[in-house]
Amino acid sequence: MQLKGSLKEFRALTQAQLDAWVAQARVMVQAGRIPDYIPRLAEVDRNWLAVQIEFSDGQTYAVGDVEQPFALMSVIKPFVLLFLLEQLGHETVFSQVGMQPSDQPFHSVAQLVADQGFPRNPMINSGAIALADCLPGHDGPSRCEALRQWLNQLSGAQLVLDREMLASVRSVGNETNRAIATLLAESSGLSSVETALDTYNHICCLAGTVVDLAHLGMLMTSPHARISRSHQQTVNALMLTCGLYEASGEFAVQLGLPTKSGVSGALLAIAPSFGAIACYSPALDKTGNSIAGLFLLERLTRSLELSIFG
Ligand code: GLU
Repeated sequence: MQLKGSLKEFRALTQAQLDAWVAQARVMVQAGRIPDYIPRLAEVDRNWLAVQIEFSDGQTYAVGDVEQPFALMSVIKPFVLLFLLEQLGHETVFSQVGMQPSDQPFHSVAQLVADQGFPRNPMINSGAIALADCLPGHDGPSRCEALRQWLNQLSGAQLVLDREMLASVRSVGNETNRAIATLLAESSGLSSVETALDTYNHICCLAGTVVDLAHLGMLMTSPHARISRSHQQTVNALMLTCGLYEASGEFAVQLGLPTKSGVSGALLAIAPSFGAIACYSPALDKTGNSIAGLFLLERLTRSLELSIFG
């Protein structure tokens, strides 16, 4: 049995050590930014902080507000990709979206124009809107429900649609995502700008707790009876290269783990073969990643030597 990164070492993580890191993180979040471009996102308490670690042998660690629900926002993107890879296969999915990282912001219209309307990857808004339009169903609610049910059935999570968040997202219009969808419709033929956008808005408002998020992460950590290994590998690779906005490259080095963040302060890291780490803390750094989430992930990956690069 290998020693480095084995489950034995995970057990060396003490609750006291985790509690101490969380206490440090609680100080750091005071300086962070709470996004307000969606009004409901600004209604959070910046002191909410939760971590759930789930290992493949069933062992778990939990700290903080683990019962506090939050919208997944962009953390849903890898799961849309996983679902569609399973439903449609690699070739069809990657005829709609690329595999290239981007150093532009997640909602960059200029990037999509420069790429002649072909979305760079599934972790940015253009790619996620294009893929949202491939979900089975005739409208936003039915497509979102198909994804929600599949994820809940396979992972044991209890995701729900946060209708108040959805109303808040709709209240601001979001012209940037509309511009992206319009460009996509011109270049690759979205079925309808309105339906694609409404689907995207719905799936971003799927909500759960860190326990649910860790359950979702477990879909990509170990062989799974109903998910192809190569699809897990594809999603993990794209999370590693594209999952943390413009900071993805930097954190591929610093963490060495497939990771995805969302504007709500959600953060999920996959430690292939070993487990999933889910964090929630709404204060963001300048790139839009959860300050506490990244801090805790760095501490955990360094101390437990979780990097996939050995
Ligand atoms: N629904 C959000 C948006 O498109 C998701 C952004 C994010 O989490 O990065 O603005």
